[in-house]
Amino acid sequence: MQPRDLSDHVAYEAGRGIEEVARELGRDPSEFVKLASNENPHGPSPAASVAIREHASSMSSYPKAAHADLVEAIADRWGVNDEQIWLANGGDGAIDYLHRATLEPDDDVLVPTPGFAYYGMSARFHHGGVHEYALERTDDFAQTAETVLERYDGERVIWLTSPHNPSGSTMPLEEIERLAEETDEETLIVVDEAYGEFAERDSAIALLEGRDGYDARDDVAVLRTFSKAYGLAGVRLGYAVVPDEWASAYTRVNTPFAASELACRAGLAAIDDTEHVDRTVETARTSRAEIRDRIDAHVWPSEGNFVLVDVDDASSVAEKLQDRGVIVRDCTSFGLPGCIRITCGTDEETDRAIGAVNAVLADLEVDTHTEAEVPDT
Ligand SMILES: *Cc1c(COP(=O)(O)O)cnc(C)c1O
Repeated sequence: MQPRDLSDHVAYEAGRGIEEVARELGRDPSEFVKLASNENPHGPSPAASVAIREHASSMSSYPKAAHADLVEAIADRWGVNDEQIWLANGGDGAIDYLHRATLEPDDDVLVPTPGFAYYGMSARFHHGGVHEYALERTDDFAQTAETVLERYDGERVIWLTSPHNPSGSTMPLEEIERLAEETDEETLIVVDEAYGEFAERDSAIALLEGRDGYDARDDVAVLRTFSKAYGLAGVRLGYAVVPDEWASAYTRVNTPFAASELACRAGLAAIDDTEHVDRTVETARTSRAEIRDRIDAHVWPSEGNFVLVDVDDASSVAEKLQDRGVIVRDCTSFGLPGCIRITCGTDEETDRAIGAVNAVLADLEVDTHTEAEVPDT
């Protein structure tokens, strides 16, 4: 037998890991820094590590109390009802739940390009079609209602990423509201705020709750994760915040025990560890500014914990950086073969990345000139 026709499906391409690269190059892992997956350079919230150790002996039980407690803590934080928090196995798991709850076979979703690959992958698993709207490099990846509406054709779900991965651009809430206003009643706008903590902006939760002068809407949902600012990428914990009107659908679409006992315990500890999040956000802001000031290439303004850099030939620059021990994300797989994405590291890591990028770009410059000077024979 064979699985279903998966020819439209592609594997998710994750950023490369230190072990993997070191093994391939026959070098010591300690020689490398990884700035390829937007992970937290300060590691997990220390309180979360303690909580995982303390609760290790409760692993044999299904997570009920911990799940309920975490949902309550998150709901309190956003001032919404518990039912509106759809806890999941990472933000990625929440993407699946939103599709399970909305897509009928042959419904379509509208996703950004360049953009986060899992929106489309997940839609296809749920028998949905995938249409794209372009964020233009020549417009600095600006996100407006108009850019999306130009391509909108009645899709069931529209994915927005704010701050956007990989460019770091954001979409103002007024534009999101306008988009929701001008699309069909049955079109859900999901605002992916995986990097929300790093931006000095209000969450789009204001739109679904009708706060700050906005009218409450039942066609906007928000995605958040513990993977980035909280440093819990390895435990897989994220959630969607959905309008109260259809929040109860969760119990009919979720995987039983959607987040693990240890993930919930880590999340409960991390959500109160504001010191760790503040420090993380501060580091990202400093790093973003340093990279923009000091790298000898165009760097787009970013509100995430990463920056997109124009290097002309991403695959060769990424490979040369790797030789120098700095692992970055080659954005060719995002459809940007001229760009690399660098995660904001600690001060030392940022310094090292800037030095390495400038050295690689200088080498390439010399190479091009040398080639150009070779006389025709
Ligand atoms: C990292 C990320 C997510 C979620 O990642 P999880 O680790 O599954 O929580 C979602 N959207 C974007 C754009 C991301 O970069």
